Amino acid sequence: MIRTNVLIIGGGPAGATAARILAANKIETTLVERDLSYAKPCGGGIPSSAFEELDIPETCVKKKIKKISIVSPAGEKIDVELAGGYLCITERGSFDKHLRQLALEQGASIMEGLFNRFEENGNNVISVVQKKISREEIRIKADYVIAADGITSKTASALKIPRPAAISTVSALIKPADYDACEFWFGTEHASNFYSWVFPSDGYASIGTGSTTPKNLTSFLDVFVRRRFHASLEEMNRQNLLGKTRAFKMPEWNGTLFNRGNVLFAGDAAGTVLPVLYEGIYYAMKSGELAARALIDGNPDLYKKLWNSRFRSRFLLMRAIRKHLFRDNERIEKWVELHKRPDVQELAMKLWLNKKYGGKSILSSYVKMFRHFIKY
Ligand SMILES: Cc1cc2nc3c(=O)[nH]c(=O)nc-3n(C[C@H](O)[C@H](O)[C@H](O)COP(=O)(O)OP(=O)(O)OC[C@H]3O[C@@H](n4cnc5c(N)ncnc54)[C@H](O)[C@@H]3O)c2cc1C
Repeated sequence: MIRTNVLIIGGGPAGATAARILAANKIETTLVERDLSYAKPCGGGIPSSAFEELDIPETCVKKKIKKISIVSPAGEKIDVELAGGYLCITERGSFDKHLRQLALEQGASIMEGLFNRFEENGNNVISVVQKKISREEIRIKADYVIAADGITSKTASALKIPRPAAISTVSALIKPADYDACEFWFGTEHASNFYSWVFPSDGYASIGTGSTTPKNLTSFLDVFVRRRFHASLEEMNRQNLLGKTRAFKMPEWNGTLFNRGNVLFAGDAAGTVLPVLYEGIYYAMKSGELAARALIDGNPDLYKKLWNSRFRSRFLLMRAIRKHLFRDNERIEKWVELHKRPDVQELAMKLWLNKKYGGKSILSSYVKMFRHFIKY
C-alpha cells in the first residue's frame, strides 16, 4: 500500500496545477494519470494573463494570437484587436506534460495508472489504481483525494455522483493554417448552443463545432466547413487537408459539485467550463489551485467558498447570457451587432483576458450591458 497526504486522479490542467501547488507547500502529493502521452482534443487557447497569474512559463506556447474574428449567422464579421493581452495557443499533449513537469520539480510524485474504485471512504480514502504497463493493482491510502479526471470522471461515478449535462463537440486539425486570428462562427445551422471555431496554431489549425446533442455532429461540421472553407469535409479529406475527426464532450457548469467529504472535484470533473465562451483550461487550473489551497488549510469545505467568492457571479452571468443568446439566430445576430460597439468590445475583452484584475466593476458593467441587450 502506498501512503500519501493527497492523491490526485488525472494529470490534465486541473490535476497538474493542484499537484504543483500542494507540493510547493510541502504537502506529500501523488498524481495518477492514466496515459502520460495523452493529448486531449482541444483548441488549446488560453489567455496570456493566465500564464502570469498562475506563474507558468510560456515556453510551451505554439502561437500568440492578437486578433479574434466573430462572425454572425448572417455573415456580419467583426475583427477585434486584443489589447492588454493575447491568446496563447497550446498543443494539449505538450501543455499538460509541461504542467506535470512543473509539479514534478516541486516534489510531487507522478505515476501512470488508471483509477478504478474506492475501497474505503472515511477519514482516510483508499483508492485502487491499476498500473498501466504491469496491470498490477495497487492501493493508495490518502487523507484527501482531488478528482481531476475530466468529464467522464470515474471518481464521480464511484461515489454515485450524477454527471452534469454536456455539450458534444467534434473537432479536427487542418492544414495549412496561416491565419492570424481565432475565429468564432455563430449560427444554428452548424452549432447548437455553441459556436464553430478555427484556432490557428503552429502549421495547423483546430477546427470544430458543438451541439447539445451528439446527433448530426458530423453534418454540422460539414455545414460549417462548407461555410468557412467553401469545400465539403469529403473534399477536404480528399485533398489531405483534414486530420482525423474526434468527438469529445464538454460539461455544462451547474456550480454544485465541490467536495464529498475528503474527495474534492476540480476542472471538468466539477464542470468548471465557462458558459458561452466554453473556456475550460484556465478555470480547470484555478479550481485545481483553489482545491489545493483549501487542503493546505486542512479544510476541504473551504474550496467551495474560495471558488464562489472568485468566480460564481461570472459563471452565473455567462449562464444567463447563454440561456438567452442561443435560443435563435436573431438573438445571436443582435448580440454580435452589440459587440461592434468599441466600449462593449473593450468590456468583453477585459472580462475575458484580464482575469486577475477583471473584478467586480467590470462584471457589474457587463451585467448592465446584458440587461440593456435583453431589452434591445
Ligand atoms: C473540442 C474541445 C475544444 C476545447 N477548446 C478549448 C480551448 O480552446 N480553450 C479552453 O480554455 N478550453 C477548451 N476546451 C475545454 C478544455 O479542454 C477542458 O475544460 C480542460 O481540458 C479541463 O481540464 P481538466 O484537467 O479538468 O480535465 P482534462 O483535461 O480532461 O484532464 C483529465 C485527465 O484525467 C485523466 N484521467 C481520466 N480518467 C482517469 C482515471 N480513471 N485514472 C487516471 N487518470 C484519468 C485523463 O487522461 C486526463 O489527462 C475544449 C474542449 C473540447 C472538448
